[in-house]
Amino acid sequence: MSPKSVFRLLLLSALALGSFETPALAARHPVANSPTGKGMVAAANPQAVEAGLNVLRRGGSAVDAAVAVQAVLGLVEPESSGLGGGSFMTYYDAKTHKVVAFNGRETAPAGASPDMFMGPDGKPLGFATAVVSGRATGVPGAIAMLSMAQGKYGKLAWSSLFVDAEHLADQGFVVTKKLARAAAAPYPQSIQPDTVAYFTKADGTKVAGGDLLKNPAYAATVRKIAAEGPKALLEGSIAEAIVQRTHDGPLPGTMTLEDLKAYKPKASEAVCRPYKVYVVCVPPAPSGGPALLEGLGLLANTDIAAHGPTTVQGWYLFSQASRLMYADRDRYFGDPDFVSIPVEGLLDPAYLKARAALISPDQAGPPPEAGKPKGAGIRAPDATAEPGGTTHMVIVDGAGNVVSMTTTVESIFGTGRMVGGFFLNNQLTDFSFSPKEKDGVAAANAVAPGKRPRSSMAPAIVLDRQGRLVAALGSPGGNSILAYNLKTLVGVLDWKMSMQDAIALPNLIARGPSYAAEPDKFAPGIVDGLAARGVKLVGGGGAEGSGLHGVLVTPAGLTGGADPRREGVARVP
Ligand code: GLU
Repeated sequence: MSPKSVFRLLLLSALALGSFETPALAARHPVANSPTGKGMVAAANPQAVEAGLNVLRRGGSAVDAAVAVQAVLGLVEPESSGLGGGSFMTYYDAKTHKVVAFNGRETAPAGASPDMFMGPDGKPLGFATAVVSGRATGVPGAIAMLSMAQGKYGKLAWSSLFVDAEHLADQGFVVTKKLARAAAAPYPQSIQPDTVAYFTKADGTKVAGGDLLKNPAYAATVRKIAAEGPKALLEGSIAEAIVQRTHDGPLPGTMTLEDLKAYKPKASEAVCRPYKVYVVCVPPAPSGGPALLEGLGLLANTDIAAHGPTTVQGWYLFSQASRLMYADRDRYFGDPDFVSIPVEGLLDPAYLKARAALISPDQAGPPPEAGKPKGAGIRAPDATAEPGGTTHMVIVDGAGNVVSMTTTVESIFGTGRMVGGFFLNNQLTDFSFSPKEKDGVAAANAVAPGKRPRSSMAPAIVLDRQGRLVAALGSPGGNSILAYNLKTLVGVLDWKMSMQDAIALPNLIARGPSYAAEPDKFAPGIVDGLAARGVKLVGGGGAEGSGLHGVLVTPAGLTGGADPRREGVARVP
């Protein structure tokens, strides 16, 4: 097994430990119900959810609340996201029924080069080496993106949105079991000096679940961000500290103050496509959104809705559509500012129909090749690794505006290097380590100065054909995000499940030759039935790494869901 695979397995099996807590956690996950237009917050940590609810209670908008939730998540779930990371947001404006997308993806510094993750032996660096390196860090974009979105859709003063984060950092926040587990795990990032120092108590032991942890440096940073906006991070003393820390060995990076100052988040229309009686919207590439739409487009050519979650055929169709989706995603996606991505071709109804026809009626064949959609250049299969440290939030405000936002430091604790009380991302390891693919073709996801690495994050918003909100959801999980989100969309839209039940459905990631899954969670007979059709589910491969959060509009009002595999909640103000 390659070092990259060993690293990934270690990381994913540790994440999987969370699943053993399912029954206890499930009891603490009441499905929130909001019959009136009060709104809802669903996120991976109750302290962060509370910060979002506080903003909604003060009359803040969904984007205002997202700022507060992110500020607290960066403190209480620093293994997943934070001030030093990046993000994609899909936003629904209740008044105009428009869906827009914000791109806060990290950029590679001007000094980055296509071979910066290649070793002196001409081979790609091991993931464990690259992940803690100085050069893994991209220019952080999450806060700049939130500032852009808040400038457009916020109601409260930006400076008022950080009070909970500041208070918790000053007075101490409750360490969750997941955080304590990540801090104590033998990941390369968890054993970095900054991480060890932060999570070690005066008596020399590591923080445990339930402990109070203070982070005065974080409090000072959010005070500065509250006062100055994203400039506080991208210019001045914190920017200088970021540059310095990324220039430390091993494998120093090239980031400069100019790189930080030049960072620009982006706003655009969301990419929306019909799915049966619905319309599903996601951010454009380099997010994974368009690939998720391809998965739905393939399933639209099947009768999956007629086969529920307790049928072999339902899961068979899901798995085979997923494989086709991943085959295309793994070949064609990258940053559209640098490589052309045949999104129109991939989502063309005729292409989807022809590709869905490749699904054999009852017997899975070998892994499918990528298709040849209109506009496709010559590309080779991508081998980018994507282990996970990421989180997803969904917020609905009293006016019905919606934020669906996936936010990340890439791997657990990013690089394990800290500045100003927060972790620096390792997002640039989401690039292809090799500038060329195996067969010598240039990688669509190769590193280039100013480029954004390919992402799997796919924050989704679902509308009806009149433009009214139906659902919003998303998940962390690296490559598996697409499968997690697709499963949940099928659960609520096709199988008519509640958001909570759809989130709790077993995960199944059918990609290439493998079918990673949670075999113990399927209804009786499914695992054997699938095996008889050549779909051999394998547990323990990280399929438990979802952190799905979502909301669903029902006749009884707004209902929420939080992934029992994590520690989050969905609550009303
Ligand atoms: N860095 C990954 C991406 O942007 C996400 C990793 C994760 O979900 O844990 O797609």
